[in-house]
Amino acid sequence: MIALLVLSAVAAAPRAWAEPREPFHVVGNVYSVGSAEVTSFLIATPKGHVLIDGGFVESAPQIVRNIDKLGFKLEDVKVLVVSHAHFDHAGGLSELKRRTGAQVVASRADAEAMARGGKGDPQFGDAIPFAPVYADRIVQDGGVVRVGPTELVAHVTPGHTQGCTTWTTVQREEEQPLHVVFNCSVSVPDDYRLLGNPRYPRVVDDYERSFRTLRALPCDVLLGPHASFFQQDERRARMADGAPNPFVDPAACGAYLDRSEQAFRAHLEKERSAPPPAAPAAAPAQPSAAPSPPPVSASRLR
Ligand SMILES: [Zn+2]
Repeated sequence: MIALLVLSAVAAAPRAWAEPREPFHVVGNVYSVGSAEVTSFLIATPKGHVLIDGGFVESAPQIVRNIDKLGFKLEDVKVLVVSHAHFDHAGGLSELKRRTGAQVVASRADAEAMARGGKGDPQFGDAIPFAPVYADRIVQDGGVVRVGPTELVAHVTPGHTQGCTTWTTVQREEEQPLHVVFNCSVSVPDDYRLLGNPRYPRVVDDYERSFRTLRALPCDVLLGPHASFFQQDERRARMADGAPNPFVDPAACGAYLDRSEQAFRAHLEKERSAPPPAAPAAAPAQPSAAPSPPPVSASRLR
């Protein structure tokens, strides 16, 4: 598995993540319409739909097909939001915006990153660009997106990106209100530089604050931009008529945060004991070859 993912090099890398998946009903009016590892979710209402995350550029047609397979109309997608402005979640948004005519809503920092097409990333530099997409509305921390009866609340949880946005909504199933959390991601890719990163000096504080924010959110259903964050395939396989919905699992939220925070602290510890070479911005020019972006392997992007 890892060997497959480490095919490396930006162009080829994470495409196993984009393997098609059948769409399915997750909980309430939330549907999974994304691919194997890189997820997208449709929140469907009689007054229009919200799509969370656009996957890679090649995910867009899959998402369109999946929405169609569920019997929903693409033109009823009224709002596009994103977990974070990386090419595996924002790469398909430009095409999806064109095809749906939907409004793109994003946090300020991620809206800026998307407008730059992912270039100038504080960790990846220009290594993982995507088609630029422009936000129609900037949402602040605590801001609300309303479509029909559905309210999505934006929680800006920076660190993984500067505008990383966790979206929450309350869904009902069998009369029960369920707090659904679309976690932005608090993972720390291997290549991230947390200490002394001149492009993102506050990154450690941001992660710390985001962990606190996320732990305080009511959470019955954990979802996120990567299927592996919340074991999408395994839970889906356990879905059965008449059985409790395996996606309703309050313990999953804390467990994910515990794992992520442990990994964050381990990464910090590693940087403290073996400082990485100077960050790109401060690096001395290579004597001969023109600088080229380092290959970014798929396993390092989550
Ligand atoms: Zn990412």
